[in-house]
Amino acid sequence: MIQICDKDHRDDPMFIVLPISQAHGDGRHKCAGCAYDQGLIDGTQGLEPNFRPDDLNWSQAGVVRHKSALAGYMMGYVDGLRTIV
Ligand SMILES: [Zn+2]
Repeated sequence: MIQICDKDHRDDPMFIVLPISQAHGDGRHKCAGCAYDQGLIDGTQGLEPNFRPDDLNWSQAGVVRHKSALAGYMMGYVDGLRTIV
């Protein structure tokens, strides 16, 4: 179920580096932390990158607010790949 994200990763400083983005294709208003988790799972499983913003929680607070969820996904994806190479 898609809801407003209330996970601790909202305030994780590792997401400070992510670019601000309001572009719809970048997952506008979606949680970049949840996007990271999605990418991490895909990367760890060796899947092709497949950003799915419709599956992510909404973001309204914390470090991840207005951050590019797509960039969060790719950060997680690459971290996931590193676990299997
Ligand atoms: Zn989240």
